[in-house]
Amino acid sequence: MTTLKNPALLKTYLVHPSTSSANSNDRDNNNDSNDNNDNAKRVDVNNPFNGEVIGWVPSHTKQEVEQAVANADSVQASWAAQTAEARSDLLMQWADLIDANLDDLATIMTLEQGKPLKESRGEISYANSFIRWFAEEGKRIYGDVIPAPKASQRISVLKQPIGICAAITPWNFPAAMITRKVAPALAAGCTILVKPAMQTPLSALALQQLADEAGIPKGVLQVVTGDSATVGDVFTQDARIKKLSFTGSTAVGRTLMAQCATTLKKLSLELGGNAPFIVFADADLDKAAEGLIAAKYRNAGQTCVCANRIYVEERIKDEFLAIYLPKVAALKVGNGLSDAVDIGPLINNQAVEKVTSLLKDALDKGANLLTGGDINPLSERIVNPTVISNVTADMDIAHEEIFGPITAIATFQSESEVIAKANDTLYGLAAYFYTKDLARSWRVSEALEYGMVGQNTGLISTAVAPFGGVKQSGFGREGSKYGIEEYLIVKYWCQDIG
Ligand code: NAP
Repeated sequence: MTTLKNPALLKTYLVHPSTSSANSNDRDNNNDSNDNNDNAKRVDVNNPFNGEVIGWVPSHTKQEVEQAVANADSVQASWAAQTAEARSDLLMQWADLIDANLDDLATIMTLEQGKPLKESRGEISYANSFIRWFAEEGKRIYGDVIPAPKASQRISVLKQPIGICAAITPWNFPAAMITRKVAPALAAGCTILVKPAMQTPLSALALQQLADEAGIPKGVLQVVTGDSATVGDVFTQDARIKKLSFTGSTAVGRTLMAQCATTLKKLSLELGGNAPFIVFADADLDKAAEGLIAAKYRNAGQTCVCANRIYVEERIKDEFLAIYLPKVAALKVGNGLSDAVDIGPLINNQAVEKVTSLLKDALDKGANLLTGGDINPLSERIVNPTVISNVTADMDIAHEEIFGPITAIATFQSESEVIAKANDTLYGLAAYFYTKDLARSWRVSEALEYGMVGQNTGLISTAVAPFGGVKQSGFGREGSKYGIEEYLIVKYWCQDIG
């Protein structure tokens, strides 16, 4: 286990070199005051690169999750009553502590998630940008005064915190998917409970520890860990929770939406994607190839906005591949803890099986393997960067989220043809296209049925812009001035002063 600069960070949960398993006597009551030393209530956390146990987290029971809701309930009113400025100051102090511990947080993330250290550092900074953005945005929750139809009337609109919130987050961005829910919730005056994915719960607990140290009152932010169905039941059924924000797969999103029906919770769903990446013949091909590397291979292809279906205009296909393939060959795979590495392991064996079976199906149906296609000897979970061409609509890879390092290239002849192909999916999260033509820019960006469109760029995520999807990629927006609205209710106030 790599040593952290701050030995107090997660000291309870990390496995240290001198111990073969986590030391139960070392535990503090950071967020699990109700659990005991029973090993049955612990879940190991593994390094996806080599399978080593790097730590553990509690498996909270239903009663413990309900107690966490009660804790939130007991401080919800006092947190909402604080001034926006006071909440902002605490969020800023949290952000300062995250910056001060950035290297350690990145190390923890790489150990539990596998992504290269440089990406982990980038994610911690990205995660922190949401805290700083919403610390400011909380001071700008303005209502309205509306001209009334009667002289004696006054009409006002108040924006108020919705109340206790819950968040369920995935493993591919163990910090940023948390802060982009927690920061707006806290800034708006809501308390929040967070259930991180059980592959990557340590980053969440480290963030919680730093929030506690920053002085965010106990009960305002609570991370609960354990069986997802148990936690999910409480998060969706408990009427004290007013809002659920979920990031993860479309299948689980559907289940949670159905479960929330009984308590009619406000919902935000950030679900799966199937992003098209279109290269028109007039594009800057160097820039397009660079953008595709970023949009395809970040996090080993495991992002919801990863380019999934690549459409290259037929007449420039060879030219584009001549630029693109050497860039893929230059990607360095390995243990994410090495700074030189560009691509680490996939999260687990099921992910490897899914990616290899999508590849096999495509090759069986006539795709051409241009590079990669095999497992790297360094780790059974590293799939070498792969490029296939001649992808057709009958292949599974053309419809499913790949979530792995495979570039699947198809060709097209006309703008209308490629727009129809790009929109031929249940998903609508991110789409990318490359062109220098101004009129086409408008036509294509308006025609794409997606929540986010990147033109001449493969990187679109930022705290200042609204992130979210349409169709079966979900609804709700995170980041930007829109993100805080998800945690507010609109109250219309009509007065007769005559
Ligand atoms: P997942 O299987 O849906 O899991 C996401 C979270 O839901 C995890 O915390 C998981 O907990 C929990 N969960 C699973 N079943 C549950 C249930 N029945 N009740 C309550 N919670 C439950 O997704 P994933 O494989 O972790 O993440 C990858 C997916 O997330 C991809 O589809 C990706 O596109 C999507 N994603 C979307 C966005 C976006 O902003 N749109 C961003 C990132 C990722 P456990 O891990 O403990 O089972």
